[in-house]
Amino acid sequence: MTSAGTRTFPFTPTAHPTPAARRAELLVEPGFGQVFTDHTATATWTAGRGWHDEAVRASEPLVLHPAAAVLHYAQEIFEGLKAYRQPDGSVALFRPELNAARFAHSARRLSLPELPVDAFLEAVRGVVRADEAWVPEAPASLYLRPFTVATEAFLGVRPADEARFCVVACPAGPLFAGRDAGLTLWISAELSRAAPGGTGDAKCGGNYAAGLAAQTLARTHGCDQALFLDAAEHRWLEESGTMNVLLVTADGDLVTPPLGTILDGVTRRSVLELAAGHGLRAVERPVSVEELTAGCADGSITEVFAAGTAAVISPIIAFRSTAGGFTVGSGAPGPHTLALREELLDIQFGRVADPRGWRV
Ligand code: PMP
Repeated sequence: MTSAGTRTFPFTPTAHPTPAARRAELLVEPGFGQVFTDHTATATWTAGRGWHDEAVRASEPLVLHPAAAVLHYAQEIFEGLKAYRQPDGSVALFRPELNAARFAHSARRLSLPELPVDAFLEAVRGVVRADEAWVPEAPASLYLRPFTVATEAFLGVRPADEARFCVVACPAGPLFAGRDAGLTLWISAELSRAAPGGTGDAKCGGNYAAGLAAQTLARTHGCDQALFLDAAEHRWLEESGTMNVLLVTADGDLVTPPLGTILDGVTRRSVLELAAGHGLRAVERPVSVEELTAGCADGSITEVFAAGTAAVISPIIAFRSTAGGFTVGSGAPGPHTLALREELLDIQFGRVADPRGWRV
C-alpha cells in the first residue's frame, strides 16, 4: 500500500519468457482462450487482514487444498475485458472502470471480498504492461480475465475467510470465427439461467455451469447458442450464454430486455449510448417470445444482434425452438447491426476520436 492508500502490484518479470519467435507464432491465429501470456496479477485476501501480497509475476499453477470452498460451493466471480492495439502502437482498455464496478457488485452477491476499483484497474494495467508484447494487432486483441476464488479449506457452508484474486490474459481472435454471416439461437424454453433474487446479474461461475446444458441442447439443434427466457413464465427474453440481446424495430427503436436477472453488459450499455447517433431510440423493456416471433414474421422487427466483449456485436439471423424456426429480416446481417459494430470497433481500436473518454 502507498501512503495514499492505493494498492500497487509490484512487478517481477518471469525468468522464463516465451521466446519472441514462439510468441509471434501464437499470435497469428490465437483462437479464443487457449493460449495464455507469461504473467498474472495476484492478490490474497484474509479475513481480519484484508488484501495483501499484491504482485504481477510469472504465471504459475494455482495451488489449492482439495477442500477449498470454491471447489465445492462455487464461491467464485470473474470479469472479462480486452486490451486493444492502437494505430500508434500503444494499447488501450475499453471502459475498464465498468468492469471494476461490476466485479465489486458480483463480489457482494457471492459474499467474496470486494477488490477496490483502483486495485482492480492497477492489476489489469499491470498485466497489460508486463505482457504488452502479447497484445495482437487488430482485429485480434488481448482478453483479460480477472477472477476471485474462495481458497479457504473448510467444508462448512459459509463465506470463506480466505480468497485469491488473479488476472490471466490470453490473445483472442473473434469468438465466433467464421460465423460473420450471423448466428442462430436456440430459444431455451425449459432450461433457465437466472431467477428474480438469484445471481443472474452477477458474473459468477455457477451461472455458466448452469447454462452449459442449454448450450449443448442448442448445439444438438444446430444452433450456435441458447437464448434464455425468464424462469417464471418462460416467456420473456433475457440473454444468451455470454451476450446480451438487442433488437431493431421498423420504427427505429433499439430494444433490449431490462436489467434485473441479466448481466449489465458493458457492450450493451455502450451500444445503447451509441444508438442516438444511428438514428435509433434506446429502449429497455421486456420483450416476449410472441413479440419476437410475430415481429420477425411481419417485419416490425428488422434486426437482432448479440453484444458482449468477446462476441463484440454478432448478428442473429435466425431462431429455433421446439415450436419450429424463423428468420430475422432477410436472414442476413442488418445495416444498423453492422454500423454499430463498426463504430464500436473503431472506438476500441482507436480509429476514431473518443469524445466520451471510453478508451483508457
Ligand atoms: N451476458 C453474459 C451472461 C455474459 O457473460 C456477458 C459477457 N461478460 C455479457 C452478457 C456481455 O457483457 P459485456 O458486454 O460486459 O462483455
